[in-house]
Amino acid sequence: MPVDCIDMAGALDAVESMIAGGRPQTVLAVNPEKIMKAQTDSLVRESLRGAGLLIPDGIGVVVAVRLLLGRRLERVPGSELMPAICARAAGKAHAVFLYGATPEVNERAAQVLVERYPGLRVAGHRHGYVGEADMPALVEEINASGAQILFVALGSPRQELWMKQYLPQLDVRVCQGVGGTFDVLVGKVRRAPAAFRRLHLEWLYRLLAEPRRLLRQTALPRFAWKVLVARVTGRR
Ligand code: UDP
Repeated sequence: MPVDCIDMAGALDAVESMIAGGRPQTVLAVNPEKIMKAQTDSLVRESLRGAGLLIPDGIGVVVAVRLLLGRRLERVPGSELMPAICARAAGKAHAVFLYGATPEVNERAAQVLVERYPGLRVAGHRHGYVGEADMPALVEEINASGAQILFVALGSPRQELWMKQYLPQLDVRVCQGVGGTFDVLVGKVRRAPAAFRRLHLEWLYRLLAEPRRLLRQTALPRFAWKVLVARVTGRR
């Protein structure tokens, strides 16, 4: 599974190039959970491999790159890249479209972004509970909005699969999968306190805050085991 060895500044520059480029591209977050999912789900694997930018979102990925490739990487959390993209877009007159989350969260996220980044143009927004039959209308709405940047907040792997299916019909230049970031933006879900973040234990905080994630996070020990085996056997 590839991952781009970039930092936040590099990720922002890459997004800038995509906006200037000629075709829509995806920005996806790479974390242990998605890597493990990609082992067994070919659609997820293809959507990750086809991405324009794969950010090292999870600490597990950063540690694995260090152990297996000897490269020092910083985390580029998708939840931080998204507001950073908005901050840049505000200064460059690039418009964004927000797709995903509940109707209330989606509406509020658009307001929060405009308040936080004066000058940002939110060209449109739509909640994430649109039925399959309404997808052509949604695609049309996104294209008519003139947005260059589309944030898709449907959770994983739903958002990756949605992008794989609909990106070819979209006129946007950049499409970032942002998971639960709209919920964080509006304060519905809190990010881990600074101490957890400093110790790279954000994943543990989320697990304690939302125990229903336990099943999903069984990917973490399985990923850690694979990385250790690869380290010991020298397989990359
Ligand atoms: N969501 C959505 N449509 C759906 C299912 C989920 O818009 O059909 C939204 C949900 O409201 C939430 C986000 O997707 O805002 C999922 O957040 P989560 O923290 O689970 O994302 P992940 O951990 O997968 O990045």
